[in-house]
Amino acid sequence: MSVDAHCHIDLHPDPQKVFETLIADGVQTIAVTTTPAAFKGSSRFMDSMRGIYPAVGFHPEVVAERPQDIKLIRPIIERVQWVGEIGLDGSKRFEKSYDKQKIAFERILVECHLAGGRNLSIHSRNAADDVLDCLERHSGSGTAVLHWFSGTKKQLRRANDLGCYFSVNDQMMSTGKGRTLISEIPIDRLLTESDAPFTLTSSKQSIASCLISCERIISECLGSSHMEVKQKIRSNFDCINQAAG
Ligand SMILES: [Zn+2]
Repeated sequence: MSVDAHCHIDLHPDPQKVFETLIADGVQTIAVTTTPAAFKGSSRFMDSMRGIYPAVGFHPEVVAERPQDIKLIRPIIERVQWVGEIGLDGSKRFEKSYDKQKIAFERILVECHLAGGRNLSIHSRNAADDVLDCLERHSGSGTAVLHWFSGTKKQLRRANDLGCYFSVNDQMMSTGKGRTLISEIPIDRLLTESDAPFTLTSSKQSIASCLISCERIISECLGSSHMEVKQKIRSNFDCINQAAG
């Protein structure tokens, strides 16, 4: 049984089919969303009893276009264990919205703190230090899982000291830098993800096969068996979920 800690089920051309396939393949999935409105629309593709956990998100790339949505997120945070995709994007394309992203991200962290802490799936492209500063300021916001982390080794160590987990995908490991970073992550903090549909190389590729390939590469990087990696990732996932339960 694999773990997909970051999957955009609702952004696939046929979400219902993806949802059913994930259940049939026994993939424990965090179904992230990009806006609170999208969460409402796609909640039918979520079923915690069968391992598809809903996450309410507000993606940093769309925060500035939808300022009114921030109000919608609070009541949803009350009833979910997972919040994501949230975070900051410091790349050139989104620099104009960066201040607004920060305000929204901090506000969501405060809401999570007020709700007693949540599991957070976090985007930190070109913004790792600022994301970590925010997490440090809002340490009661919950357990952070840094999705597709692409910071430096120093930032990775800082994230680790703050108690963050890391969800990694097979595309990250297609580069030497990605593989080096993965070998720096303690096995107790590692999760797998697909970030589908963005990482799938063809419409025929299944999410389950993508996760298995990710587990295999991790086992090569760490010199452990595939089964050991699979079991460890599952136990990390269970540990986070139980803490939030
Ligand atoms: Zn994503």
